[in-house]
Amino acid sequence: METTKYDVVIVGGGAAGLSAALVLGRARRRVLVVDAGAPRNAPAAHMQGFLSRDGMPPRELLAVGRAEVARYGVEILDGTVVCIEVLVVDDPEGAGGIEHRVVLSGGVELTARRVLVTTGVSDEIPEVSGVRERWGRDLLHCPYCHGWEVRDEPLGVLGSIPGSVQHALLVRQWSADVVFFAHAYDTTAAEREQLEARGIRIVTGEVTRLVVESDRLTGVELADGRVVERTAVFVRPGIHPHPDGLLAGLGCEMDQTGFVKVDATGRTTSPGVWAAGNVADPRAQVITAAGAGSAAAIAINADLVQAEVDRALRSSAPDVA
Ligand SMILES: Cc1cc2nc3c(=O)[nH]c(=O)nc-3n(C[C@H](O)[C@H](O)[C@H](O)COP(=O)(O)OP(=O)(O)OC[C@H]3O[C@@H](n4cnc5c(N)ncnc54)[C@H](O)[C@@H]3O)c2cc1C
Repeated sequence: METTKYDVVIVGGGAAGLSAALVLGRARRRVLVVDAGAPRNAPAAHMQGFLSRDGMPPRELLAVGRAEVARYGVEILDGTVVCIEVLVVDDPEGAGGIEHRVVLSGGVELTARRVLVTTGVSDEIPEVSGVRERWGRDLLHCPYCHGWEVRDEPLGVLGSIPGSVQHALLVRQWSADVVFFAHAYDTTAAEREQLEARGIRIVTGEVTRLVVESDRLTGVELADGRVVERTAVFVRPGIHPHPDGLLAGLGCEMDQTGFVKVDATGRTTSPGVWAAGNVADPRAQVITAAGAGSAAAIAINADLVQAEVDRALRSSAPDVA
């Protein structure tokens, strides 16, 4: 099968991947971005908190990004990478003689001197009726992304995982009317004290449904039939890397939470492999994911330059018998 060789293959074309592609394209590298087209914030109508792009629809940011990188010759392929393998090569222009075989669903194979994984994460949200449909609309996770838009409104926070109480204490920054729905979460006495001290009402009992009227959230229904009027509800999701095994398959070291270990530039413990954005940092916002992609790109280019210098030195060194 014919394979095409790139300096860098970037897996994932969200803010992190496209930002890296821009830097590497401008550094005159041969770059391919493979993107499955499902960025994490796709359900949201607007992207907030990105200086100079505040309020821009998420898809627009990526469309502009794709057009920008194309100007520098970066190729973009809509598709899904299913496997990345390490190849040991004779001509050691890679990191320690290493290149990578990148396999896409459908069987296309590419070769890359360096790989940057920017595949993002999945959000695990409670299985409550209406939650999935309202996700990113009026069921929200991040007050920094959406708090301003619902400021001073009657807000709820759905208890689900440890950290939910902390989330409610935070959300209170945006409204004086916050209800904590304990739902599946057993609050401790100390947590209840904190919630009460911050003026947050606690409602116990299982939440069975988000009530929606005319395509707007109007309340939260409990198992005993009570409906508490709310116009937006926050939930702290479980955040997980996609179970695609791409980084683990490359032998990258993972931390206890299942996220890949990287240095300040996104370099993993697997030679020639970088990771940036949410896949390496669950806390990354769009602007920080983009920044991490840029930092990784600069480190990758420096690594390639060093490999090229080493190679030139080897080829110019006199043969010693
Ligand atoms: C509902 C919601 C709203 C949000 N709103 C905001 C906001 O207003 N402001 C803000 O700063 N942050 C917001 N965020 C957070 C924001 O989504 C992330 O910070 C950002 O998307 C991280 O960028 P990324 O490039 O790391 O990953 P992503 O944007 O998720 O991009 C990853 C890309 O990789 C692709 N991919 C995954 N696996 C593969 C594969 N195997 N092969 C090829 N491609 C693959 C995906 O399809 C996707 O296109 C929001 C999050 C959610 C859930």
